[in-house]
Amino acid sequence: MREGKHNSATSMRLGRDIGIDLGTANTLVCRKGEVILNEPSVVAIRKDTKEILAVGSEAKAMIGRTPGDIVAVQPMLDGVIADYEVTEKMLNYFIKKCIRPSLFRPRLVVGIPRGATSVERRAVEEAAFKAGAREVYLIEEPMAAAIGAGIPVEEPTGHMVVDIGGGTTEIAVTSLGGIVAGRSIRVAGNAMDKAIILYLRRAYSIVVGERTAEEIKIKIGNAFPEEDEELEIRGRNLVTGLPVNLVVHTREIHEAISEPLSEIVRAVKVTLEETKPEVASDIFENGIILTGGGALIKNIDKLLKHETNLPVFVAEEPLFSVARGTALVLEHHQMLKNLKSRKSKNR
Ligand code: ADP
Ligand code: MG
Repeated sequence: MREGKHNSATSMRLGRDIGIDLGTANTLVCRKGEVILNEPSVVAIRKDTKEILAVGSEAKAMIGRTPGDIVAVQPMLDGVIADYEVTEKMLNYFIKKCIRPSLFRPRLVVGIPRGATSVERRAVEEAAFKAGAREVYLIEEPMAAAIGAGIPVEEPTGHMVVDIGGGTTEIAVTSLGGIVAGRSIRVAGNAMDKAIILYLRRAYSIVVGERTAEEIKIKIGNAFPEEDEELEIRGRNLVTGLPVNLVVHTREIHEAISEPLSEIVRAVKVTLEETKPEVASDIFENGIILTGGGALIKNIDKLLKHETNLPVFVAEEPLFSVARGTALVLEHHQMLKNLKSRKSKNR
């Protein structure tokens, strides 16, 4: 009888634990393998009073549409926590949305960028405690991505994961539960959107916003085009200031995003070169796994395969890999033990 009671209390407590992917573009919360929150990492702030007006999807809708005194900021965009205070408030808002106040305060695993400083780590922990966490574990994003993509990271064999997000691309080689090589570059999905904006301005004297550029990338962008697609877009003529329609093609968009794409390829190659021979030969065998929203750019796997001669795979639902990984860690006692954690002071 007592045994049964204990078990149901434990599972109730475990059932409240959550994993969080604090991404540069999107924040996701995952509980028991299920994504329960997925919103842009955006905060709308009133400039003069610093008052927060909206967070997440609501705030993203304001990008490019805000009146002068309101700004929509993406506090994580550069892969580092650019603005602690705003990040803390944003995270607090998302966590509160997912956990109701209760006697059983949850444990949290939060994926953070690999290069995060101790001050940045602290800001994440504080936000989690303020939102009601009992204990916070921090995990490096590429490790969470690898776990979420199904890589057996604990095994004594090397695997490479390339997580292409909004602000950063994180490349990591995992073996025996750790990252044995890797690098992080500030070139990812956003850089491609910017490159598209620049191209349209140069080639057609047409101005489009970030959201249109992203839409073009998603609809007809291609990292290794085999066929041509076209898309009608609307922009504003730089000279006349009037709205115009224009048809753009895959081949020119490919040309436009070729620079950021080759920077990603270069970073992968350099990381492979820096990897010890034994581990490198494991990767030749196991291949490269792509995660993050950038893994959804058409044929990016083909491009990397062509450039490295390695097998390349896109993870299943790559936008969810990090979030799934953070939640999976909660179910693995040993992995959890390997992470640095802090407990709330007012327990
Ligand atoms: P982060 O982890 O930095 O928050 P995400 O992994 O959520 O980033 O990926 C966001 C990036 O993925 C954005 O640049 C977005 O434009 C891009 N993206 C999302 N879906 C697609 C798609 N279908 N095709 C190409 N790019 C995509
Ligand atoms: Mg990410």
